[in-house]
Amino acid sequence: MSDREVEVTANTHQRKASAPALLSIVSPAYREAENLPELYGRIRAVMDGLSLDWEWVILDDHSPDQTFDVVRALAARDDRVKGLRLARNSGSHIALSCALNHARGDCVVALAADLQDPPETIPELLDRWREGAHVVWAARGKKGGESVTTTGLSRVYYWLMRRVVGFKEMPSEGADFFLLDRRVLEAFSRFNEKNVSILALITWMGFRQTTITYTKQERSQGKSGWTLRKKLKLLVDSVTSFSYVPIRAMSYLGFLVALGGFAYAAVVFYNALAGSPPEGWSALMVVVLLVGGTLMLMLGVLGEYVWRALDEAKDRPRFIVEDEVGVNPEVGSLRPDIP
Ligand code: UDP
Ligand code: MG
Repeated sequence: MSDREVEVTANTHQRKASAPALLSIVSPAYREAENLPELYGRIRAVMDGLSLDWEWVILDDHSPDQTFDVVRALAARDDRVKGLRLARNSGSHIALSCALNHARGDCVVALAADLQDPPETIPELLDRWREGAHVVWAARGKKGGESVTTTGLSRVYYWLMRRVVGFKEMPSEGADFFLLDRRVLEAFSRFNEKNVSILALITWMGFRQTTITYTKQERSQGKSGWTLRKKLKLLVDSVTSFSYVPIRAMSYLGFLVALGGFAYAAVVFYNALAGSPPEGWSALMVVVLLVGGTLMLMLGVLGEYVWRALDEAKDRPRFIVEDEVGVNPEVGSLRPDIP
């Protein structure tokens, strides 16, 4: 057995013996007033069965409905429930980042608030953590009731992430539900990127990652906040944050177009010398449109990188907290949200 294996085995045994002193569950919530009470009941049933100390941090992403009132009511009933409300709707990835920054547990489980991710999977996530994993992805086994566009886009997304960006660890079925060890959480809190997929960022961070599968439930109340526009932005964010392949492809394409252009120019020049210059303007139009279109496309790709660089350079806070309940700033890792 190598030194490294000895080290890993020792670590694993150490983990097996210990349960987390505190397990945090974090949930971003947007228009989830109707789902939160049921989710609370289910989380409680699972966690009480595990006899662990736990906390549930609910991050209301500036919902227009009664979500934060429900959070307050739950926190008044059970002081393990904590809530924060963002000053503006920031999207589930930013909301989740804020919630993660407020988790105090030895490990933390990120769980959607819409009942699609069953809290009954938590013991299995915890088992993998005890076995020594630092990141445990719960990959969707099968999903029900999704449109062809959603499934298609999701396939394209995970294919791009695995094949183009090179994140082979990313579950090909997609994962929205995961467990992180405290050390991953600490490392994560040092990132302040805005236009990035949090799942991609965690995959990029490394550590010991493993995957289990679960069955993503259908939404019983409300509807998914993922519009086509948001999905496309996430796709471009995820690729541009971790890969320069599009820029390199632009250079290659530019080179090929230029090569074609020079070759065509040589043919035109030769024909002109031979006494038959090109006729009419249709050939010219084809060339102008082809080159013009390619240039526009390339400018667009470059623009995607440039505006992201500008946005990050402004260094605005990723999130601003408007209200909170049950979060005690003196207890632990509450970090200032506005630098
Ligand atoms: N969510 C959020 N902000 C938003 C949209 C969604 O915090 O702007 C929350 C939502 O309440 C849910 C989680 O993020 O708890 C996942 O969102 P959704 O169900 O829309 O995603 P899907 O299940 O379709 O991937
Ligand atoms: Mg959902």
